[in-house]
Amino acid sequence: MASGGGNNRIGTHRNSLKGTTTTSTASTDKPLSVNSNPSKPAFKNKSSPLTGASSGLRKSSPGSLGGGAAKDDAGVPGRVRVAVRLRPRNAEESVADADFADCVELQPELKRLKLRKNNWDTDTYEFDEVLTEFASQKRVYEVVAKPVVEGVLDGYNGTIMAYGQTGTGKTYTLGRLGEEDTANRGIMVRAMEDILAEVSPEIDSVLVSYLQLYMESLQDLLDPTNDNISIVEEPKSGDVSLPGATLVEIRDQQSFLELLRLGEAHRHAANTKLNTESSRSHALLMVHVKRTVKGREPAHSSDNGNSTSMARSLRPPLVRKGKLVVVDLAGSERIDKSGSDGHTREEAKSINLSLSALGKCINALAENSAHVPVRDSKLTRLLRDSFGGTARTSLVITVGPSPRHRGETASTIMFGQRAMKVENMLKLKEEFDYKSLARRLDIQLDKLIMEHERKQKAFEVEIERITAEAQNRISEAERNYADAVETERLKYQKDYMESIKKLEEKWMMNQQNQGNERKEQMVHIAEEVAEVKKLLSKETSLRKAAKEEVYNLKSQLAQLKMSEASANSEILKLRKMVEDEVCQKQKLEGEILMLQSQLLHLSFEANETRKRLDGGGPGKVPGGEDSPVSQVRSQLKDSGNGEKASVAKLFEQVGLQKILSLLEAEDADVRIHAVKVVANLAAEETNQQKIVEAGGLKSLLMLLGSSKDETIHRVAAGAIANLAMNEKNQELIMSQGGISLLSTTASHAKDPQTLRMVAGAIANLCGNDKLQTKLRGEGGIKALLEIVKCGHPDVLAQVARGIANFAKCESRASTQGSKTGRSLLIEDGALPWIVQNANSDASPIRRHIELALCHLAQHEVNAKDMISEGALWELVRISQDCPREDIRTLAHRTLASSPDFIAGLKRLRIDY
Ligand code: ADP
Ligand code: MG
Repeated sequence: MASGGGNNRIGTHRNSLKGTTTTSTASTDKPLSVNSNPSKPAFKNKSSPLTGASSGLRKSSPGSLGGGAAKDDAGVPGRVRVAVRLRPRNAEESVADADFADCVELQPELKRLKLRKNNWDTDTYEFDEVLTEFASQKRVYEVVAKPVVEGVLDGYNGTIMAYGQTGTGKTYTLGRLGEEDTANRGIMVRAMEDILAEVSPEIDSVLVSYLQLYMESLQDLLDPTNDNISIVEEPKSGDVSLPGATLVEIRDQQSFLELLRLGEAHRHAANTKLNTESSRSHALLMVHVKRTVKGREPAHSSDNGNSTSMARSLRPPLVRKGKLVVVDLAGSERIDKSGSDGHTREEAKSINLSLSALGKCINALAENSAHVPVRDSKLTRLLRDSFGGTARTSLVITVGPSPRHRGETASTIMFGQRAMKVENMLKLKEEFDYKSLARRLDIQLDKLIMEHERKQKAFEVEIERITAEAQNRISEAERNYADAVETERLKYQKDYMESIKKLEEKWMMNQQNQGNERKEQMVHIAEEVAEVKKLLSKETSLRKAAKEEVYNLKSQLAQLKMSEASANSEILKLRKMVEDEVCQKQKLEGEILMLQSQLLHLSFEANETRKRLDGGGPGKVPGGEDSPVSQVRSQLKDSGNGEKASVAKLFEQVGLQKILSLLEAEDADVRIHAVKVVANLAAEETNQQKIVEAGGLKSLLMLLGSSKDETIHRVAAGAIANLAMNEKNQELIMSQGGISLLSTTASHAKDPQTLRMVAGAIANLCGNDKLQTKLRGEGGIKALLEIVKCGHPDVLAQVARGIANFAKCESRASTQGSKTGRSLLIEDGALPWIVQNANSDASPIRRHIELALCHLAQHEVNAKDMISEGALWELVRISQDCPREDIRTLAHRTLASSPDFIAGLKRLRIDY
């Protein structure tokens, strides 16, 4: 249908209309104004929203809703949009109404429709869109349907509905497939094209139901057997669903067209069966578009296994579910309720029920009535979301141009006008698709299980394969091994057989050779055997002899070894003996020395005895002098040349140093003999100096201190006494602690001879003028007074000699004036003993004491003590009875010269 033709025709119609005089009385010139009938509802209702359905719908698109429509329960207002479409005159009308003008006049730019009441009067209505008879299907789609389709794609419900008298082009507008000319494609086809172009087949889905509502029964056009589908309304959301309806998933346009064709065929068949026309039934196409919100779609690349995609795969996808309902209503013309068209009255009522209920509902909604009778019909129940609900609804009312149907046209226009007042609240149908998530997870799980099973299987197969391969290899190896063993065995067997064969050949050859030579050889061999036997027996006897020889040699060797050992021990013994001999020799030398000294001593003693026998007789003190020294000296003098010579000889032979060293010998006897020899030597004045120089004096003094042997003490003291005759030696003795040593020796002595020697030594020291004080200081006088306790006359004689010596020295010192004060003898308490022994029977004692008394009396300081101790009597006796004249005279002179003595004599009445 060329639009150009349409244009011309309309123009023709208008012109003809204007120029035609009909039943109308009004002037054709009368200008028509939109305000000509202000009381009309169209004018009252028209208001600001009518700024173009298209742009209005676009403004309320999801983009402007902020994307959060699911949370916005209130939704956004969205009025039902209404477009009017005028069908061009058809052939019949062109003929029949040729003389009449169209009953409607459109002003598309003003979106107005003028309905001619009569020749002079028109009513003007404003619509959201006014589509002329020239409007292309494309334009109609874009104006009426596209915004709704876009809304559905964005998650809103949408309704596109055609209302109008039968034959005005509802089906043409909605349901043309455009097979003959794609330009004729209707809204359904174009809507699906747009939907399919937008959705992603992997994540989105498009499901279609196609139904027919006739006489309140809902039939499935995709499954004609299903002719009583029930409507289920969810009380909470108010959503309507048809669980019994077939849902076909649409993936491409072609399948959709086929589905529409199938539906149409079924519709036709059903109508034939029911003896009706399609114009009496309502056709409903329902398109469920489910889209996953971008960015919330499931992760398809889950194989990557990264955590982000894993997390995303566990998030339920956010889906938007838009439902597009395209409703091709039954013809809106009033049907004959008389049932003249073959229907009963009741049937006629029922046929019209849904449509009239829709009208009532729209009226109620338009008037904001409290009650909307939605539940009065199935159609209103099905369309509850489309009017007064949440859907974006676009209504196209179709009208024909024929004035013959002016009434129906007017009624259609009024329907449209009322529908325009219906306000919906658009709501985004967005939700989390838990089912899908669960399904997806199930799928994923299945996949994983499958994968696992697959891998398990593969693993098992691999294991089997490896096992089989291993088995093969093992058996192959075993085979190879067996083969190798067999080969080896055969080889060896062969070698063995060959060797045997060779040996046999050799043996055969040998046998042959031997056969010839054997006889000769036998003879020869017998001879050789005899020879060898002989040699063998010889050899045997030789070996036997050799064995014996070896045995002998061995025993000899053992003997030799033994004798060597004994020789060694013998050598050791001899060595020891030699050493012992050396020791013995040394000992013997010592003994010789000792014997020599003993000999000397014995000869000394013998000499002494002989002298005694030859000389003074018994009781007489030997020698002319009192001191033992002089005795010894005289003994030596008189002992004859023999003795002297023996000592001198000894002295020469042994040497002084050697003799002195023997003083320290370990052997006590050696020491005794040595000290005796030294004593003998010391008796000789010529030796004294040598002995002292060689350290003999020191050794002798040491012996006094160290030895416990009294003989040694005695002989050593005698030697010291002899050495003490020399003034120089006296000083040495004193300086080497002689007094102390001599005192100690005296205190331990038991033999009077020892005491005699000690006393003699001290007596000699007492005769030294220089040593007076020191000697007394070291206890010399006290020691002498201790010694006298022994009472032996020889000892007492020596003590008396010492006292006399001391008194003589004191007297000399006093005379010289170097000594003042009382005598030290008196100081040390010697006076009583002097007085007591002054008249001793032993002449040596008496003589020494008389001399001592005379010396003491020389000095006046001693007089008083002497008088008080009874010495005066002794002095008187000495002066009268002393056999020595010089002493008698001295005593006398002393008594006569001392005033104290004179006074004492007087007092004692001694007449002198
Ligand atoms: P309805 O479905 O409203 O009963 P149809 O769509 O069947 O009407 O249309 C009736 C007839 O009018 C059909 O033959 C159709 O081709 C034709 N027709 C309807 N509208 C138009 C139009 N706009 N242009 C051309 N032909 C039309
Ligand atoms: Mg139709």
